[in-house]
Amino acid sequence: MPGIDFAAVRAAVSLQDVLNLIEFRPVRRNQRGLRGSCPFGCDGSPRDFAAYLETNRYYCFSCRRGGNQLELWARLQRLRLYDAALDLCQRLHIEVPLIHRW
Ligand SMILES: [Zn+2]
Repeated sequence: MPGIDFAAVRAAVSLQDVLNLIEFRPVRRNQRGLRGSCPFGCDGSPRDFAAYLETNRYYCFSCRRGGNQLELWARLQRLRLYDAALDLCQRLHIEVPLIHRW
């Protein structure tokens, strides 16, 4: 199984791409990013989920889950990071960046 260049996947796939895939609807938007209801379905307020588009990080102030765009997709789809990266590349028609060892 070839290695995936996760940094290259993160460079190619933005948090906004992942939010588009899950049809995230922000209730508030400011310079730092977007706020909306948590895609994990936790019982917080409709503004508890924060998406910081410049840094591609997310955080939910209710369930305290946080991470980068790949981790968000992996958690939502219940995939390992490796499979989440493959899945995202396929959905977004991006060539999977592999680590070539020789
Ligand atoms: Zn949450």
